[in-house]
Amino acid sequence: MFGMGARPLDEDPRPIKPATVRRVVRTFSPYKKKVAVVGLAIVITAGLGVVNPLLIIAVFDRALFGGLRVMQDLRNALYRHLQEMPLRFFTTTRTGEIQSRLANDVGGVQSVVTDTASTVLSNTVTIVSTIVTMVIISIPLTILSLLLLPLFLWLTVRVGKARRVVATSTQKTLADLTAITEETLSVSGMLLSKSFGRQSFEIGRYREENERLTGLQIRQTMIGRSFFALIGFFFSITPALVYLVAGWVNSNHVHPVILSGMLVGFTTLQSRLFFPIGSMLQVSTDVQSSFALFDRVFEYLDLKHDIVDAPDAEPLVDVRGSVELDHVRFRYEEPAADVVPISPEAVPTEQLREWTLDDVTLKIEPGQLAALVGPSGAGKTTITYLVPRLYDVQGGAVRIDDHDVRHVTLESLGEAIGVVTQETYLFHDTVRRNLLYGKPDATQEELEAAARAANIHGKISELPDGYDTVVGERGYKLSGGEKQRLAIARVILKDPSILILDEATSSLDTTSERLVQAALEPLMQGRTTIAIAHRLSTILQADVIFVIDRGRVVERGTHDELLTTSGLYARLYEQQFQDQVIEPDSSLR
Ligand code: ATP
Repeated sequence: MFGMGARPLDEDPRPIKPATVRRVVRTFSPYKKKVAVVGLAIVITAGLGVVNPLLIIAVFDRALFGGLRVMQDLRNALYRHLQEMPLRFFTTTRTGEIQSRLANDVGGVQSVVTDTASTVLSNTVTIVSTIVTMVIISIPLTILSLLLLPLFLWLTVRVGKARRVVATSTQKTLADLTAITEETLSVSGMLLSKSFGRQSFEIGRYREENERLTGLQIRQTMIGRSFFALIGFFFSITPALVYLVAGWVNSNHVHPVILSGMLVGFTTLQSRLFFPIGSMLQVSTDVQSSFALFDRVFEYLDLKHDIVDAPDAEPLVDVRGSVELDHVRFRYEEPAADVVPISPEAVPTEQLREWTLDDVTLKIEPGQLAALVGPSGAGKTTITYLVPRLYDVQGGAVRIDDHDVRHVTLESLGEAIGVVTQETYLFHDTVRRNLLYGKPDATQEELEAAARAANIHGKISELPDGYDTVVGERGYKLSGGEKQRLAIARVILKDPSILILDEATSSLDTTSERLVQAALEPLMQGRTTIAIAHRLSTILQADVIFVIDRGRVVERGTHDELLTTSGLYARLYEQQFQDQVIEPDSSLR
């Protein structure tokens, strides 16, 4: 309601008269200097306000970009390092653990680096300018307000340590969770849990691990938050402290007297410090806990590569394809020093069998087909691992064309050898890309020729998108035999001089097996082949058969020669001849 003299709101206000303006200016004119100082202060404050956004721009455009680059380099370095790790590392480490270090640990470090860069840069200006102004107003009061800073710094270090411990456990649990996910949500893991009806068990296991992770994450956050709350508490009581001291100074007539305007200004500045200092301290605890993550990344980067190119390594060129194992001794793990027997008589025979391969000598001429035959666990696969130097021998030597494999470059060794194993690995990608892995620059004609030779072109043509059909995770959209034939086509494209073939034992039916067998024929033509043979046809075709038992070559020769010796080979042949397939049988040991 308007009073009697009130003017309705919608009425035009009276225009400002120039005379009024002049009069106002005149009124202020004696205080010109003071007005100018206030104006300048406003301009400076506004200017400082603009500095922060400008700094943030600088942070994002330069510092942050640089920070992110460092992380990108770290991730690349870690991946490269892992690529060059020996097979031994991967047989003893869970894939999920490896993935977690690459993704979660490097990612965690990255977010800390990003946050730190922006927080430090944007808060420094506010803190420095505020403290400088505080010092100008009153040095003793500034000292009083910042008296607690050393305590905060000490607390920061303590809190940082506590968070580092929790962060280590958090990252470990995160890796466990990643490993569970990776193992159970893969096609093979799913097949296993479904066929054993263990889904509720897996759900429970995941839930338990997830609960542990959440608990740790809450702890980590709580440690940070309670610290921040503590800082907040101290900051809220310092203005009271300042007022108290000022009151005491003024009432005791200590000079100089602290003016009330000065006090208000000072405490306002003090409160301006809370957030920037708080977040700086918070970030510094983050930085400290990120060391736990750095440790985990560095732990992998520090792992030694024991299978690397020798300084004098030469590329293997014009490979003829002779393969020789010369008195080879090998075991997967080095026994601990205290279990090495002092005298052979003093220990039971079982403990003496510490070599997986013991004094293995064999020679395969270029273009020959050599069959490795023997009971399960005899060491056949291990022999094939030593040729491409997936492991290094502990005694003797492996030679290709008379070159010790330890003195040729790993890259050229990889190019010279092709492997077809029972477990076919295909990428979740198109047929074409899976084939091109064998020869990246292959033409469509070459792809088709290889696929025809491997008896798989017909099947590929029937697929909805032909060569562009995605084969599914690890090729699960294809049958076992089809996958193997695709893998064979891939090796045909690669065209290696030496072929290592681990024949399937039982996964295929007769028709499928015949198709695979037919696909293998052209692959074996004209190259040295070492086959872990389970098919009689391969064994009969072999130029030489090596019978392996308990890590030793116990017999060697052709099928006919070996049959006449009535040894292990003859026994294996008799027992499995009816199936037409020689299958390993541990009962023969
Ligand atoms: P199969 O016919 O059953 O495949 P194989 O003759 O190929 O058997 P290998 O795989 O060479 O036998 O194994 C030889 C021995 O080495 C076995 O006793 C096996 O337990 C052991 N072994 C294989 N791989 C490893 C490994 N990564 N770490 C430790 N020991 C291993």
